[in-house]
Order: sequence, then structure tokens, then C-alpha cells
Amino acid sequence: MEHICPLCNGLQSINEICPNCGEIMVDGGALANYLGPYSPYAEIASLPSQSEAQCIHLIYCQKCRYDDRVSVSLITI
Ligand SMILES: [Zn+2]
Ligand SMILES: [Zn+2]
Repeated sequence: MEHICPLCNGLQSINEICPNCGEIMVDGGALANYLGPYSPYAEIASLPSQSEAQCIHLIYCQKCRYDDRVSVSLITI
């Protein structure tokens, strides 16, 4: 048994709509991928709220550049 993120593994896609302009938002990948000493997201990702059972993804709107984070529940395979 293994816990995987359905988004990271291409089993599921984001269906979020941009609250600003109504465009379908794009999955920018797991927030963990953005971690780095100079990353603007390092501060957010270091918050202790991130549970093991979830994968935090950055999603963004290609039209107006709005971005947000979503918690994706891991699935068991
Ligand atoms: Zn993921
Ligand atoms: Zn937008």
C-alpha cells in the first residue's frame, strides 16, 4: 500500500475556476517543488499545517496571474 497524490501522478486534474476572471486554473505542481532558499513560497510551505496525508499544490490562472494553493488528499493504491 502506498499513498500517492492523484494530481502529481496524473490521475486527476484541477477543476478550480479563477475567482477573478472565471478562467480554468492550471496546476503549477506540488508546492514542495517550489521550495528553495530564494523561493517566495518557502515561507508558506514551512508552515506546520501541512499534513502528511495531503499534497499542497500551487494553482494559477494563466489569464490574470491569480494564484492559490489547494490541498489534495492522497489516495491509497
Ligand atoms: Zn501532488
Ligand atoms: Zn484569472
